[in-house]
Amino acid sequence: MAFNLPDLKYDYNALEPYIDARTMEIHHGKHHGAYTSKLNAAVEGSSLEDQNIEQILAGAGAHGAAVRNNGGGFYNHNLFWEVMTPNGEGRPGGEVLQAINKAFGSFDEFKSQFSNAAATRFGSGWAWLVKTDSGLVVTSTPNQDNPLMDVAEVKGLPILGLDVWEHAYYLKYQNKRPEYIEAFWNVINWAEVNNRFGS
Ligand code: MN
Repeated sequence: MAFNLPDLKYDYNALEPYIDARTMEIHHGKHHGAYTSKLNAAVEGSSLEDQNIEQILAGAGAHGAAVRNNGGGFYNHNLFWEVMTPNGEGRPGGEVLQAINKAFGSFDEFKSQFSNAAATRFGSGWAWLVKTDSGLVVTSTPNQDNPLMDVAEVKGLPILGLDVWEHAYYLKYQNKRPEYIEAFWNVINWAEVNNRFGS
């Protein structure tokens, strides 16, 4: 199967002032576009052509760098665009809030742990909220790795992710990654996070 770059469900400028339009345009069109086309090139003619992205990621450790990096990049950005919205409500409700309270004690404690994971991921990578067999867990991964991969330290279903590569924030925030992380909380699509939690 060939993988396709998905359209965004909102305009490039819709997440302003938290994430600027130029960053969104380059991030989606160029970066995500490149991960998608390179993933297609990497699986072309191999048995991976018959697998969906989740199956490919589950075997990432054996597939080599091109599949691991571009497969992760393809999946991670698909998730990232969907867990953001121009109509962010700030705080979650529903089942995911109950699970957050159970795992972290409070939303504020979860926010603190997630922000810290994002801020302290050295170099390029992602912060994640992960649904595991033992409840919700905060973790981070390097490069384009994610918790669906067999090589991940913490494995499970990612239900919220934050891209902390410099390409995600440098035009607007330069070296101030913590300001970008703080801005992210204004654009989280908690309805989508709840959907993923329930799936
Ligand atoms: Mn990115």
